[in-house]
Amino acid sequence: MILNTFQLAGRTAVVTGCNTGLGQGIALALAQAGADIVGVNQSAPTQTMAQVQALGRKFLDVRKNLSDTSALPGIVQEALTLTGHIDILVNNAGIIRRADAINFSESDWDDVVNLNLKNVFFLAQAAARQFIAQGTGGKIVNIASMLSFQGGVRVPSYTASKSGVMGITRALSNEWAKHGINVNAIAPGYMATNNTAALQAAPVRNAAILDRIPAGRWGTPADLAGPVVFLASAASDYVNGYTVAVDGGWLAR
Ligand code: NAD
Repeated sequence: MILNTFQLAGRTAVVTGCNTGLGQGIALALAQAGADIVGVNQSAPTQTMAQVQALGRKFLDVRKNLSDTSALPGIVQEALTLTGHIDILVNNAGIIRRADAINFSESDWDDVVNLNLKNVFFLAQAAARQFIAQGTGGKIVNIASMLSFQGGVRVPSYTASKSGVMGITRALSNEWAKHGINVNAIAPGYMATNNTAALQAAPVRNAAILDRIPAGRWGTPADLAGPVVFLASAASDYVNGYTVAVDGGWLAR
């Protein structure tokens, strides 16, 4: 039956940056659908781990700095200690730096592009090598942004990284679909998390953002639950290289 194709029982999902925000919502959604979770975080995912375990699912706490490319292959090896296989990777961890382009520093460029784009690619590569070795196929969901589609203001490295995420989502799907690996992305709209705390706190900017969102509200981590379970499950087996906007209608304006 159709709803069974959304079931993730017996699957193991690696979710980066799931101690808070959208990653936490994603980890909980996948666990609710039946998946065990490998959380890759810099800091303790205490609340997420408790919530996943309360659902009766396993949670493996892997501590890594995802800015360090050399740490990435080790993440897959450590993840395998939970169930012996991995089936889903959600590349969620990301940062943003705000400054006028005219004064933008090289470190604000490199820090953002290395974490949000370069290491998203290399973790996807490490996961895909494992999916191919397992012979099972797999699901990769990258977290993109409205700035995969638009230019943004005062966030040039973030725009570059998230535009790149949409590009590599397509590129990797072209190479890996033949292995039964689906590579897709979710582009969240304006979501209420730490990442957007500065925008939410700026009265004029906040009002302008709300005025432009047809749904009339900021999104929440729970708004990603349905789309991520879809893209992580057999329900999306013939969806390849696509970036799904979950934005309350922002891009439709
Ligand atoms: P957040 O700041 O609440 O969460 C970011 C996560 O990334 C945290 O878990 C953080 O610990 C982790 N992280 C950051 N640097 C890391 C590193 N070096 N190593 C390991 N983990 C690291 O922000 P969020 O809004 O939940 O963002 C999650 C993702 O969604 C990001 O990729 C972000 O760009 C994207 N996004 C957010 C919005 C939004 O409106 N909030 C919109 C579009 C896209």
